[in-house]
Amino acid sequence: MGEVVRVVFLGPPGAGKGTQAKFLEKKYGACQVSTGDILRKAVQDRTAVGKKAAGYLEKGQLVPDEVMLNLVAERLREKDCAKGFILDGFPRTVAQAEGLEEILGELGWKLDSVLCMRVPQEMIIQRLSGRRSCKKCGNLYHVVLNPPQREEFCDRCNGELYQRDDDREETIRARLHVFETQTVPLVHYYRKRGLLREIDGVGSVEEIRARVFRELEEGAA
Ligand code: AMP
Repeated sequence: MGEVVRVVFLGPPGAGKGTQAKFLEKKYGACQVSTGDILRKAVQDRTAVGKKAAGYLEKGQLVPDEVMLNLVAERLREKDCAKGFILDGFPRTVAQAEGLEEILGELGWKLDSVLCMRVPQEMIIQRLSGRRSCKKCGNLYHVVLNPPQREEFCDRCNGELYQRDDDREETIRARLHVFETQTVPLVHYYRKRGLLREIDGVGSVEEIRARVFRELEEGAA
């Protein structure tokens, strides 16, 4: 792969997309574009997008495609994305994937690959219910599988850790249902375009990181 990486992480909530995206961000100098993080910040800051999105996030449903496409089109045009990007949590519907193709076409860019993380459902629930994020820098932890050195505080910036509101059991089930019905069709969409690379998402954070790097390097060979 050249110096610039342009990849999509596909997978259910709790598959490890965010954790692995942060590793790629560091290794390739690309920027992680997490639509979930962008939306949570918009909700917190009570922006116009945040006001539109809040109810969907709370219920674990998808924010309308049009809102998402505008948001991503704007984000990808920011200067830092010229160094490459890792889309984490977008696209989530076929309409979003089609819209993304258009946006990239306008910018003269193409995706290198779509990394699809596979994780069994029982493990997703275990991962999401123990997940913690840093309020300040967004770094991710798990109370058992990837604990911080000091309970409730971030190793990287010492920020306070918190549990996302939508990582509660009823909302987790709704999000998994949304994934199965609306996002799984993207597997076929990207396979048909020769971009899909499947990654076994079971194992330690380091094991999965090695698989992700291997896939990207093989893809480049
Ligand atoms: P995530 O952090 O990726 O799990 O996203 C959290 C929530 O943000 C989702 O449950 C959706 O409500 C919303 N969201 C994030 N990305 C998208 C997207 N690409 N399309 C629609 N809704 C999204």
